[in-house]
Amino acid sequence: MADVAHDGATIGVDLGGTRAKAGLVDASGAIIARDLVAVPEERDEDDIVSLLTELVRGLDPGGGAPIGIAAAGVIDRRHGIVRESPNFPEWKDFALAKRLAEASGRRVHLENDANAVIYGEMACGAARGCEDIVGYTLGTGVGGGIILGGELWRGARGMAGELGHVTVVRDGGRPCGCGNHGCLEQYVGAVGIRRTLEERGGKLAELADSRDAPRDLAKAADAGDDEARAVFAEIGRHLGVAAAAAIHTLDVLTIVLAGGITHAQHLFVPALEAELRARTFASMCEGVRVVVGTLGEDAGVLGAAALARMAAGTER
Ligand SMILES: [Zn+2]
Repeated sequence: MADVAHDGATIGVDLGGTRAKAGLVDASGAIIARDLVAVPEERDEDDIVSLLTELVRGLDPGGGAPIGIAAAGVIDRRHGIVRESPNFPEWKDFALAKRLAEASGRRVHLENDANAVIYGEMACGAARGCEDIVGYTLGTGVGGGIILGGELWRGARGMAGELGHVTVVRDGGRPCGCGNHGCLEQYVGAVGIRRTLEERGGKLAELADSRDAPRDLAKAADAGDDEARAVFAEIGRHLGVAAAAAIHTLDVLTIVLAGGITHAQHLFVPALEAELRARTFASMCEGVRVVVGTLGEDAGVLGAAALARMAAGTER
């Protein structure tokens, strides 16, 4: 019964640092069943494989739905290996796709989480119907995804799209874990916003310690606080600088913004668009749309499931 009912379905898994979310997704991109499990603190590779095997069996008992996994870190998607992950620092060259395929008896496709989110927005979200996209995931840090001709651009070694690490402040920029300084991520993710608040000091500095600094800052901006509004405008300008470079490099027509900070889109997208117009050839900027993701918390699951569907289709 399950095989018939779930014909054409795939499973998307969003593997975060503290929990794994999974969904059984039908061919139209709708989640027909979902589950969520906590990721144990010891984070042993064997534990993760058993945990994910149980998770997918629970969603699709007896079926053979292919699996897509979205995970943070440097991913070798060709070989299905997590080279390194910020969430699981003890993992080195973890062959997650192969191990899960052996344990579950299903095809497994592994992808960087930001790539999966942007792909999901193209497959069934804000960028449906678009084929040339540069996307930014604005969460704790900043991830990115590049889609050209409807396919993720992965680069020579599968690592393309690290858009949070393009330089937006050349001199005296904040140091970044990647080895650079002045990276986009240091200014526009939640961590970057905290740093900005600390640096600016004054009455906004206390917001740096709040649990959800971007949301509290947005509340202050919406209440008319000029300083808070200025912080968001600066975020928009940093994103505009990065996106202008992307447009000149790739000639994409769609800029997708996804992730938690997009709740404050009204506070920074106008500045982003103004910066884009100011920094690009008019003929290249014309027709470019900035869109905000619509898949929210499900973007990783839906993107991973869409990638599994695409991979299964090309393997047939
Ligand atoms: Zn960096």
